[in-house]
Amino acid sequence: MINRDLVIIGGGSAGMAAAVAAYDHGVRDILILERTDLLGGILNQCIHNGFGLHEFNEELTGPEFLTRFANQVKERGIEYKLGSYVSSITRDKVVTYSNEEDGAVQIQAKAIIVAAGCYERNAGAIGIPGDRVAGIITAGQAQLYLNEYGYMVGKKVFILGSGDIGLIMARRMTLEGAKVLGVAELMPYSNGLNRNIQQCLKDFDIPLYLSHTVSKTIGKGKLEAIEISQVDEKLRPIPGTEKRFECDTLLLSIGLIPNNGLLDNIGVAQGRSRGSAVNEHLETEIDGIFSCGNVLHVHDLVDWVVSEGKVAGEAAALYLEGKLNRGSKKIVTVAGDGVGYVVPAEVDLEEAPEKLQFKFRCRKPTKNVYITYSLNGNVIKRFYKQTIIPSEMEIDPIPKSLLTEEGTLTVSLTPKEVK
Ligand SMILES: Cc1cc2nc3c(=O)[nH]c(=O)nc-3n(C[C@H](O)[C@H](O)[C@H](O)COP(=O)(O)OP(=O)(O)OC[C@H]3O[C@@H](n4cnc5c(N)ncnc54)[C@H](O)[C@@H]3O)c2cc1C
Repeated sequence: MINRDLVIIGGGSAGMAAAVAAYDHGVRDILILERTDLLGGILNQCIHNGFGLHEFNEELTGPEFLTRFANQVKERGIEYKLGSYVSSITRDKVVTYSNEEDGAVQIQAKAIIVAAGCYERNAGAIGIPGDRVAGIITAGQAQLYLNEYGYMVGKKVFILGSGDIGLIMARRMTLEGAKVLGVAELMPYSNGLNRNIQQCLKDFDIPLYLSHTVSKTIGKGKLEAIEISQVDEKLRPIPGTEKRFECDTLLLSIGLIPNNGLLDNIGVAQGRSRGSAVNEHLETEIDGIFSCGNVLHVHDLVDWVVSEGKVAGEAAALYLEGKLNRGSKKIVTVAGDGVGYVVPAEVDLEEAPEKLQFKFRCRKPTKNVYITYSLNGNVIKRFYKQTIIPSEMEIDPIPKSLLTEEGTLTVSLTPKEVK
């Protein structure tokens, strides 16, 4: 068995940022394992701009953004292996990967950072009535075919789900000459960023059907048409509201899920985000195993992914020096009213840094609210928000000095009192 200090699983933005941070904090024996043939992860297929406004103060395309980080990895001489798929890790930090050159290899790592990204929900997850015909694919897969492989996936397109990938693909397919007939969204609001609704749908006159779903796919072998229906308050299609669209392609943008199988398989406790439960150092319940980026919780902006990668990389460096300890006093975070999940799941009162950040997403768009932080039922901090929407992750700074005792920190949305 090979011994390594730090193994990073996934060479996307989170993995590269973690590797660079670990190196800059003194770790030299680092190996990044990436299953595809490129560093950069999902950014390789995101050729639109909108990346890096916070990290670089510039608006970059995905490939431009990833190249800056890939260069930092290369300049430091950090080792990475492409085409290398990690099939398992153990609680004792044995990493098993395989690639064409090395075959199947086991590594005994001292520390592991899991940065394996997320995956898309597909047609099987929602069970649309109709035959399983060709022409129904996820929006991210279509983006990969079009932007990386140069294949046009269809000419008359309908999109289900108004997540950012769906919105971006509506514009992309239009620019490539396809007719995008519409986007149907189950919820009464869009799940994409506001800027994407404007720039990808409204600017191209693509209709958005809120509170609608695809109720039928029609075709023999190949998609010929779809039917959409309005849904009731329980999100069930309402008979009699069907609209038919002749199309050859249905793109699904119906959610992203942390690709957390490696940690789930070894029984690491999960958080509400479906990633692992981590502390403020992004360390899981297992000493020396960290998680960051979309595998921990799905992010809207790569800048936040990168900042998480840096936290994990620095923490791994401290762990390898024997300086990352767990104290005995902790606070557990709870997603209260209106909040979907909170990261981190717990904070170590003795070991936490002075400045802490809490991240969460709300459950539905809400106006005129306080984001309220309550420690054991007592409010310690509130932030006023005119509007809060699920597609934008919230990040709040809370000084450690406010966390005065062990217990439960509840994050909830409370309506602003109207006088
Ligand atoms: C379509 C789309 C549009 C976006 N638009 C914007 C935008 O305009 N602006 C913005 O700031 N952000 C945007 N984002 C968000 C942001 O880019 C991503 O959240 C971020 O890049 C995710 O980084 P990551 O490293 O966590 O995951 P990924 O980039 O997915 O990297 C994970 C890596 O892990 C590898 N991997 C997974 N499992 C294994 C395994 N078992 N073994 C080895 N390797 C493995 C994968 O191959 C992948 O390379 C967008 C995201 C998408 C999907």
